[in-house]
Amino acid sequence: MRKLLFLDIDGVLATAASVHLKDKYYQTPFDKSFHHYPFATSCVEALNCALKESEAEVVISSAWRMFGLDAVKFCLEHEGVKANVIGETPETRTDSSWYVPNRKLDSYISTPRGLEIQAWLDQNKATDAKIVIVDDCTDMVHLKKRLVKTSWEKGLEMHHTFRIISMLKEEKA
Ligand SMILES: [Mg+2]
Repeated sequence: MRKLLFLDIDGVLATAASVHLKDKYYQTPFDKSFHHYPFATSCVEALNCALKESEAEVVISSAWRMFGLDAVKFCLEHEGVKANVIGETPETRTDSSWYVPNRKLDSYISTPRGLEIQAWLDQNKATDAKIVIVDDCTDMVHLKKRLVKTSWEKGLEMHHTFRIISMLKEEKA
């Protein structure tokens, strides 16, 4: 059965401590106007472990997708994440001006992330897949039982990794 991990970044890989490592800020080839902040090494290791053990594919649900999927993939690779990234969740608002690559963070308004994840599952005919949502927020509506909730302070920790692996191995409810 197909396994999918919906990945947030802030509060999962980037943490309250890691974003202050200003000497490690970097640019992508896709966005010269934005300096990306680094991820926490321990969180990257925890994610790599979860992905290696579960063999899950990754869909980006983070607001970082506003920079474009290629830029997000660049950032993940730059930070040492070993992920098979197969897509990004769509915006579900009818206002098409909402989702614009390189849009400034302060003009970014989000709908419940659970609805964006459901839209991706529907559009990609993946409603039968086993999924885990890794996020420090809880706006997952009906998909909340698939959430592994992290924190902005600590990001992804090994106890989350064990939970992710067991959720992707268990029989689908
Ligand atoms: Mg977050």
